[in-house]
Amino acid sequence: MTVLQTAPVREQSVCVRCGFCCDGTLFMHAHLNDGERGNLPEKIEKAAFTEDEKDFFRLPCRYFSGKCTIYDCKRADVCSSYRCQLLKDLSDGKISIDAAHETVRQASIMRESIFKDFRRVTGSRRKMFFRQMLIELGRLQKTTSPDRSLGSDLDMLIARCNIFEALLIKHFRSEDDFEKMVMK
Ligand code: SF4
Ligand code: SF4
Repeated sequence: MTVLQTAPVREQSVCVRCGFCCDGTLFMHAHLNDGERGNLPEKIEKAAFTEDEKDFFRLPCRYFSGKCTIYDCKRADVCSSYRCQLLKDLSDGKISIDAAHETVRQASIMRESIFKDFRRVTGSRRKMFFRQMLIELGRLQKTTSPDRSLGSDLDMLIARCNIFEALLIKHFRSEDDFEKMVMK
């Protein structure tokens, strides 16, 4: 949820290659501040909901199309304030811009490969985002007998998803503001 006009250009260059915080790869929902509802872009208003007296909007964001399509408009506060661990590591000088780009590139390749495997194993042609696919895999695992060939394929696929999740946690999930900004 970034790609700000005000963000440093090199950070924008990472985000426009990524989008994981907007497209359902990292999160299912994003946090809204008190009082933001009613003053948000239309598609975010439509995706908004309240749980435990806190406001959120569902992801993937309908303004995401390869990148944020409304970054020059007024958006939710989280859109301009959220910075993942990768951006923090970049601004802290812990990683280079080339390393940040490469991390996004490798993660995107891995995710696409998992999607491809999901389609092969399940035969599904439904368009899904990553976290939705995880839910579907969990459902299939519960309803598929482990002694059928699909069972072992599913186990392999879930193992690959776990490796990808570990990569997301290591490189992207912000350690300090994750709980505050976004719910799982
Ligand atoms: S408006 Fe949507 S696509 Fe744009 S930064 Fe916010 S969540 Fe991401
Ligand atoms: S996950 Fe990080 S690098 Fe990717 S778009 Fe979001 S803030 Fe930018």
